[in-house]
Amino acid sequence: MADKKLQIAIYWGAACGGCDVSILDTNEFILDVDALCDVRLWPLAADGKYKDVEAMADGELDVTIMHGAVRNSENEHMAKLLRQKSKIFVAYGSCAYMGGIPGLANLVPREEIFARAYLDNPSIEPGNRTVPLSETTVNGHDLEIPKFYDRVYKLDQVVDVDYYVPGCPPQPDQCKAAILALVGALTGTAEAPPKGAVVGAFDRALCDDCQRTKTEKKIKRFYRPWQIMQDPDTCLMEQGILCAGSATRSGCGVRCPNSGIPCRGCYGPAPNVLDQGAKLLSAVSSIIDSKDPQEIDQILEGLPDFTSFANRYGVPASLLQRSHRQ
Ligand code: SF4
Repeated sequence: MADKKLQIAIYWGAACGGCDVSILDTNEFILDVDALCDVRLWPLAADGKYKDVEAMADGELDVTIMHGAVRNSENEHMAKLLRQKSKIFVAYGSCAYMGGIPGLANLVPREEIFARAYLDNPSIEPGNRTVPLSETTVNGHDLEIPKFYDRVYKLDQVVDVDYYVPGCPPQPDQCKAAILALVGALTGTAEAPPKGAVVGAFDRALCDDCQRTKTEKKIKRFYRPWQIMQDPDTCLMEQGILCAGSATRSGCGVRCPNSGIPCRGCYGPAPNVLDQGAKLLSAVSSIIDSKDPQEIDQILEGLPDFTSFANRYGVPASLLQRSHRQ
């Protein structure tokens, strides 16, 4: 029985670890996964060495679930190595799928990030303000740490990806559905999703599943969610609260709008949407109640840092990709 188990790896790149927690959040289902699979690598749960992966035959792993974006040379090396060792490679969560929150770093130069973290950071003592180098020598020993890249990449900009599971993090039910779909495909009990499919989500926009009432009302100003007393039944956009539901794929269970929080787009672009941020910009332009350029500018002042909001989980996946030369 043991040698018939599916061989899987779960690994991370530039990520917060929430995707690992989302897998554990499937609760007792994780025991079913354990019964079906040998987990060959999962840094969150067990020790594992690069050399163990390097020693595997190509294709020895049935599935690698990788979350996190590619931000440094270690992320890229492990993504390529695990791709080589895996029959199926899954980009799990917003960071792997689209670049995610780490991808917002593509809006500023690398030097600015290092200056903010290591030089201008008031929490660091003045004498310790050292910018890390990828190679250095200490007491005659050469030390190497991963090279920090000029920009963040989504996973499929570095390796071939078979399936995508969106979400920050993916909701446990969707995680479960995605794992079951893969197990079904690998054991021959279900048809494999087409290569490149987004699994664990729906083929419609979040607005299609949101129960809030939409009346095509226009607005004269935008608000931050805490600036007004919300009507719990009306579309947040129609109350002037920027919500990414029309540009975003459904699959999360409408959790944020149901709680009075606008959708921020973590499930990625809705089907047939090329650029999530551009689609949201189009929704914003259609809801503004003015044709006077000056008044439109005033209304837009209620949307500080629109680029970061509209591309919050996907600058590397957007047409923008990054906002400056590197
Ligand atoms: Fe719901 Fe947001 Fe869509 Fe309005 S824009 S219907 S609040 S998901």
